[in-house]
Amino acid sequence: MEFVDLRSDTVTKPTPAMREAMANAEVGDDVYGEDPTVNRLQEMAAEMMGKASGLFVASGTMGNLAGVLAHCQRGDEAIVGNKAHTFLFEAGGISALGGVHSCQLPNQPDGSLGLEDIEAAIRPDDPHDPITRLICLENTHNRCGGTYQTPEYMNRVSEFAHGRGLSVHLDGARIFNAAAVQEIKAKEIAGPVDSVTFCLSKGLCAPVGSVLCGSKEYIRKAHRLRKMLGGGMRQAGILAAAGIVALETMTGRLSEDHARARKLANGLKQVPGLILDPEVPATNMVFLSLTPEVKSQTSEVVEKLKRYGILAGVTGQRSFRLVLHYWIDDAGVEKTITAFGDVVQ
Ligand SMILES: *Cc1c(COP(=O)(O)O)cnc(C)c1O
Repeated sequence: MEFVDLRSDTVTKPTPAMREAMANAEVGDDVYGEDPTVNRLQEMAAEMMGKASGLFVASGTMGNLAGVLAHCQRGDEAIVGNKAHTFLFEAGGISALGGVHSCQLPNQPDGSLGLEDIEAAIRPDDPHDPITRLICLENTHNRCGGTYQTPEYMNRVSEFAHGRGLSVHLDGARIFNAAAVQEIKAKEIAGPVDSVTFCLSKGLCAPVGSVLCGSKEYIRKAHRLRKMLGGGMRQAGILAAAGIVALETMTGRLSEDHARARKLANGLKQVPGLILDPEVPATNMVFLSLTPEVKSQTSEVVEKLKRYGILAGVTGQRSFRLVLHYWIDDAGVEKTITAFGDVVQ
């Protein structure tokens, strides 16, 4: 059965154009800096983020890890949201491998960190304290529902940080969704921060990879860290080729996913037993939960949906996440609404 797979936008398979570009990619040894396709992708990515340099990495997790370690010494402190992907879902790498202490601030419902909270968290110059070095932001914010931050917010935090001698790293795994929904360029969001990572393998459909971008000197440091982490790849142009197609052809269509997310939310809102939260999705993610009247548990609903050819993500005992992407069309949205209507009771 062809599944309508709404578990994540990471399930996206490469498009035929990507497979063709991969088959024909010109390659070299990227550890020597000699892969022309990787170099081209890195240049494109840096330009799109408004940075001097880019570094192709195996995953968003590796991009954030090398990215944070390039800013911080062991024992330094990074300010992170308590719902940040880097804090929740990256196996504690910044602490385990980098010795970076995390200071967790409450993410606001829109995914932001409050400026007053950041200010209060900055450590005094006291031998009891770790040294505050870095602020990590996330845009769009995964765990906060695909919410996004404006360039004004990015500017405000960055200006504040730079005034205190701190750096800002942006986990922009879905920065192109944040740009699409605001009808702006990604560099307007990433411009003010010191470093940014984004994923090629989510809504942009490439099979593997992320790019970390920042100043030349910063990327030189990150390059050594990538090697240390085992991420120096050889003929990686095979992968980068798909990334180039992703940047050329996929960023412009993300608003279609956002429109379908709203359509799906609208349909599911009518289904008795379901509550949408929020009612209008911010970008490409729909969050919903079962009302107390519904007898079934999430796991039962998910099993039954499978029989209708629908794969849904589970976020809690009573809640789901549905993510729209390139491979979900209008028919898939309709099919999902019908299936939920039949299954939830
Ligand atoms: C997916 C994701 C990452 C990491 O991506 P991987 O490639 O799976 O390691 C980082 N941050 C956010 C917000 C993400 O959604």
